[in-house]
This record gives sequence, C-alpha cells and structure tokens, in this order.
Amino acid sequence: MTSNAPSEPITLSAGPQFKGKPSKRLHIMAKPIGAACNIDCNYCYYLSKQDLLEYKKGCSPMMDEVALEHYIKSYIEAQNTPEIIFSWQGGEPTMLGLSYFEKVVQLQQQYCPDGVLISNDLQTNGTLLDDKWCQFLAKNNFLVGLSIDGPQMLHDAYRTNRAGRGTHQQVMKSVALLHQYNVKFATLTCVNNLTSQNPLEVYRFLRDEVKSPQMQFIPIVEPSSFRTTAPQTWKDDDQPRQGDKRLIPGHRNSIMESWCVTDHAWGNFLIAIFDEWAQNDIGKVFIQYFEAWVETWMGRNNPLCTLGPFCGKGLALEPNGDLYSCDHYVYPEYKMGNIQDRKIDAMAFSSQQQEFGFAKNKTLNSQCQECDYQFACFGECPKNRFIKTKQGEPGLNYLCAGWYKFFAHADRTFAYILRASGYPVKHGKFSDHAVKQARSPLNFKF
Ligand code: SF4
Ligand code: SF4
Repeated sequence: MTSNAPSEPITLSAGPQFKGKPSKRLHIMAKPIGAACNIDCNYCYYLSKQDLLEYKKGCSPMMDEVALEHYIKSYIEAQNTPEIIFSWQGGEPTMLGLSYFEKVVQLQQQYCPDGVLISNDLQTNGTLLDDKWCQFLAKNNFLVGLSIDGPQMLHDAYRTNRAGRGTHQQVMKSVALLHQYNVKFATLTCVNNLTSQNPLEVYRFLRDEVKSPQMQFIPIVEPSSFRTTAPQTWKDDDQPRQGDKRLIPGHRNSIMESWCVTDHAWGNFLIAIFDEWAQNDIGKVFIQYFEAWVETWMGRNNPLCTLGPFCGKGLALEPNGDLYSCDHYVYPEYKMGNIQDRKIDAMAFSSQQQEFGFAKNKTLNSQCQECDYQFACFGECPKNRFIKTKQGEPGLNYLCAGWYKFFAHADRTFAYILRASGYPVKHGKFSDHAVKQARSPLNFKF
C-alpha cells in the first residue's frame, strides 16, 4: 500500500515458474495525476515534485487514455505471475473521476491473460469518496489505503484543505461509507512531531472509532534538503552524528523539517502501541509492522521492503511515462527511462535497478552490521540513511535509535507470541537457539 514493495531480490533466473517460464513479478506505483491534489497537507513530500521534475509551466500532467492503455498493456506484459497488482497513487488519484477508473478496469480485463488475477489498490486522502465511488471500489475489489492521522485535533493539524481547514470530518464520512459498502481498506497514519506524542490516542481512535481493518504507520522523516537533493547524493561532511541536536526537528539549527518525528519519539510510539496491542488485541487488530516482524522473528525475510535485506521492486511511474527506481527516489538521478521508449521489464530487471535493490544490504555501515537486530531492520530505508554513527561513519539511519529501542523492548514478547503459537523462534535474544545454549532454560522467563 505504501512504498513497502516486495523485499525479494530482483532476479529472473532462480525461483518459481509460471506457465512453464521463470516467474517475473514487479510492482509499480502509478501516479496518473502526478502530484496534483485537492488538499494541501503541510508535510506532503510529493507536491514539490512538480518543480523538481520540471514539468512545463502551467501544465498539470495527467496520464491520458492513450498513455493509460499503453501502461496497462505493458505492465501486464512485463510480468509472468499468477497475480498482477496495480497501485494507484498521487497526488489524489480520485480527482481523475470515477469514469477514469472504470476505464482502468475495462482495459485490465481486455489485456488480462488467462489464469491471471488482476488486483488494484488505491491510495486516497478520503475527501472525494461518495456512494458511487464506494460501490465501484467494492464491486471491483479494490483495496483502499486511506490516509488518516488519528483523532480530529491531530489529523487536522496538518491535513488541511486549500483554505486551511481540516479534512477530518470529510474523511470520517468516507470511513462510514467504506464500511457501509464493505470496501476493503487499510489506514495509513503519518507519525509526525504531533502524532508521535500521542500514540495511544491515535491507536485507540483507529481501533475503536475507525475500526481500521489494517493499520499502517509511516514515520515522517524529511531532511530540509529533500525537495532538491536526491538520497545518497548527500555530502558526507553535512551528515550530523547520531545524537546531534541538529537532528531534532524544530531546533534552531535543525537540518530537519519541523513536522518530522524524532528517532526516540518513533521508538516510544511503536512501544506504546505494541504494548497495548500485545496485551489486548493480538488476533483482533492488524498492524502491518507487527505482523511483518512476527514473520521476521520466525526466520523469514521481512515482507516490507523498508525492513528486508533487498529492495527495488517497487518502482514509481509519473504521468508522462517516466519510471523511477522507487516512490521515494523520484529525482532525475534515479530516472530509469520512459515506458514509451523502453520495456518495463527491461528497466525493472536492469543491472541499474538490481544494483539499487542490493545496495540496501551492501552499503550497511558497521553499526548495522554488528547490530543485534539487523535481521529485523537491515538499516531500514536507504532514503533515511543521512546521519553518521557516533564514531563518525556516514550512512546511518536517522531513526536508528528508535528502531533499536523498539526491537530491544519487543524482542521477548515476539518470542513469547511465537512460542505460544507453536512456531520456531529463529532470531533475537530469546531465540530457540539462545534458550538451548543457556545453562538453564529457567534463565529465560517469559
Ligand atoms: S528505497 Fe528501497 S526500502 Fe526504501 S522505500 Fe524504496 S524500495 Fe523500499
Ligand atoms: S537498529 Fe540501527 S543499527 Fe540496528 S540495523 Fe537498524 S538502523 Fe542499523
């Protein structure tokens, strides 16, 4: 739903077969309306792209019907897999109108090969949904990602319309409609400088008022240079060390945007929600991160690209057909080409993109390599690796201290959850191996 594309390596040779040929699976987040949006959230990282990508002045690009057909056809042709997932994002994709997405579904049916299932997900700010939209989304089995930042006061602090008024009421109307029409949906909540201070208010609101079927939390991390400078092109000299005050959003000389979450606030946010979930809500409330970590502690790769060893399988498509390595790397340096000129699979499985995906693991600094929780984090998303370790090594994740704090806190409970359900515990300080190695199992009280 977010940038959390599959975290498998980008290879074609090994792996499963489909229809007698090597399986080929990739994922694109398409932005058919580019950065255009009907509201104006202060922290939106995407609105600035219009300038950065040098779209013609006055031209609000959108993928017209000819381009749309070309995209749908070539995206399907680029894959050989039982399920093809289309993701629609923006800006605000519902601004394109319902008829645009009726056309999407019609084109998908036209080009869908036998034996393949096509699914769609749609990311929305929830301000334009009505009965007709929800009927359509339910009928065509769309998965909706709904942006909501918690109770009204927290949501309306940043998620405002162009007149500066909050959008919470409109979003809650959409929540009611999504439930009424049984539309599949997940909530996406930005963890910023305000929501991070109110974890339980946010969590309980999503659980009790929104009745969110799946909660996704996104830490808001934006160095002030993010609008103009592509990740990994930062100068080493400009990277503050972990713990430096300039990393505190709102601090006098901060290099961060004021709305960002701090590393420790991120860890505390996760801990507060995790404790409440582990005590009361396991099996009842689905939190994407926690479900994924349960798998990780069991010994599987984290299914989320940000926390797995490899990435690069979630590309981003601009309305003019330009394809980028990732939704967070929509910068000229990471443009792979245009789908009018090059085949999508040629770009997605190119050596350039493979290098991008493997770099997540290959470029881990020594603090990550020696970390007890590398298996759960893998240095998180490279876009956030813009600080130095306390020893001065560059390329550390801005959120590192928060991640570590959370993992150290949740380690025992993840082991307990797995053991109680009869699953192996492969990782962490309470793994099956660690328990066996201990002189007495009684050293481990769960
Ligand atoms: S850079 Fe990699 S880890 Fe980060 S969002 Fe993109 S694909 Fe995921
Ligand atoms: S917790 Fe910190 S040191 Fe450990 S893997 Fe994650 S970013 Fe690296």
